[in-house]
Amino acid sequence: MKKKTRLIHGGVSRDPYTGAVSIPIYQASTFKQDGVGNFKYEYARTGNPTREALEKLIADIEGGKRGFAFGSGMAAITAVVQLFSSGDHLILTDDVYGGTFRVMTKVFNRFGIDVTFVDTTDLNKVKEAILPNTKAIYIETPTNPLLKITDLQAVSTIAKEQNLMLIVDNTFSTPYWQNPISLGADIVLHSATKYLGGHSDVVAGLLVTADEKIGEELHFIQNSTGGVLGPQDSWLLMRGIKTLGIRMEEIEANTKVIAEFLTGHSAVGKVFYPGFESHPGYEVHKRQAEGFGGMISFTVESEEKALTLLNKVQYFTLAESLGAVESLISIPALMTHASIPRERRIELGIEDGLVRISVGLEDVEDLLEDLENALA
Ligand SMILES: *Cc1c(COP(=O)(O)O)cnc(C)c1O
Repeated sequence: MKKKTRLIHGGVSRDPYTGAVSIPIYQASTFKQDGVGNFKYEYARTGNPTREALEKLIADIEGGKRGFAFGSGMAAITAVVQLFSSGDHLILTDDVYGGTFRVMTKVFNRFGIDVTFVDTTDLNKVKEAILPNTKAIYIETPTNPLLKITDLQAVSTIAKEQNLMLIVDNTFSTPYWQNPISLGADIVLHSATKYLGGHSDVVAGLLVTADEKIGEELHFIQNSTGGVLGPQDSWLLMRGIKTLGIRMEEIEANTKVIAEFLTGHSAVGKVFYPGFESHPGYEVHKRQAEGFGGMISFTVESEEKALTLLNKVQYFTLAESLGAVESLISIPALMTHASIPRERRIELGIEDGLVRISVGLEDVEDLLEDLENALA
C-alpha cells in the first residue's frame, strides 16, 4: 500500500459493526459484558473503539506495532517519561519544544529523572553525554525554531551500542515525510494538535512503539495514569489524517516558493529552511525524510521590525502553534521561547528579530503578496 492510500485505508479503515466508512464516535464510557470477564471493551479509559481505530491507524502509518492516543502532545510525552524511574538519566536535543523543556526541568526533575540537553546534531556531544545511568536519547528533528537536523540513523546506532532507548518527536515532519521507526527509533511521538489534526480544532498527542513489549508497558501507563483522548477528538484526528498527504504536498510546494522569496528579499537576513542545499542539515534530512516540511524561520533587523511585520500581515495569522490550514506567524523570542533568558536564547541562535512561519494552504501568490507588503 502506498502512503496516501494508507492514510485512508490503514488501521481499522471502516466500522466493523456497521460498515460505516467513517468510524463512528462511540461516545460510551462503559460496555455491557456478556458474562463476567467476557467482553470486547470493558471501560473506555482502557479502550474505546473510536480511540482504538485512531491508535491502529497511527501505528500503521508510522510503521510501528502499537499506537496510543492522549489528550495532548504533553500528555503523550508524560506517558513516555513514566517508562523511566527515579535515578534514570535522559539525553535530549538542546532546543526541544518549550513544553518538553519545562516538564523535564520543572516537573520530572522532582521525581528524580535527570536530563542533559545537548546539540544532537553533533554526534560526539551525544556520546560524551552518556552516563552509567543513561536510559534514553530523545530527539527532535527538525527543531523549533531553527530547524536543526539530527541524523536519526547515526543516533540510533549509538543508542543500540549503549542499550539506550531512542525516542523521536516527529511532530514537524509528520509520518507522511519521515518514519523514525524505520531508522531505528523505539518510540515515535506526535503533538497531533499540529499537522495530523491540521485544522486548528483539536488538541491531542499520539505515541507509536516499534515493538510489542514497550507497547504493553505504555498501555499499562496509559490505563494507569489515564490521560486518554476522548472519542470525539479521536474522530476529528482520523478525519484530519485522511488528507495529511495532499496537505503536506501542497504545504511543501508553498513553503519552497516562500523560502526562495525570503532569501532574495533585502529586508530579510538569515533564512532557516532545511530544503536549502546551503542548510547544514540538508544532506542528512534529505536522506532520512521525503519532504522538508512547512516551517521557515528568518531574521529581520530588530524586534521592532519583526513586530511591525506581524502587525502588517493580513493572511498570516499571529498565533502560537503550527501545522494548520491557516498560515501562522510568530516571534519566538517574545512568544514560544520567552521563558529562556535572553543571553541563553541568543547563544542558541534565537535572535530578537527572528520570525517563524508555518506555511498553510492559502494560494501562495496571496501569501507572497502579503509578505511583500508587510516587509516593505
Ligand atoms: C506542540 C508541540 C508539542 C506539545 O504538544 P501539545 O499538543 O501542545 O501538548 C510537543 N512537541 C512539539 C514539537 C510541538 O510542536
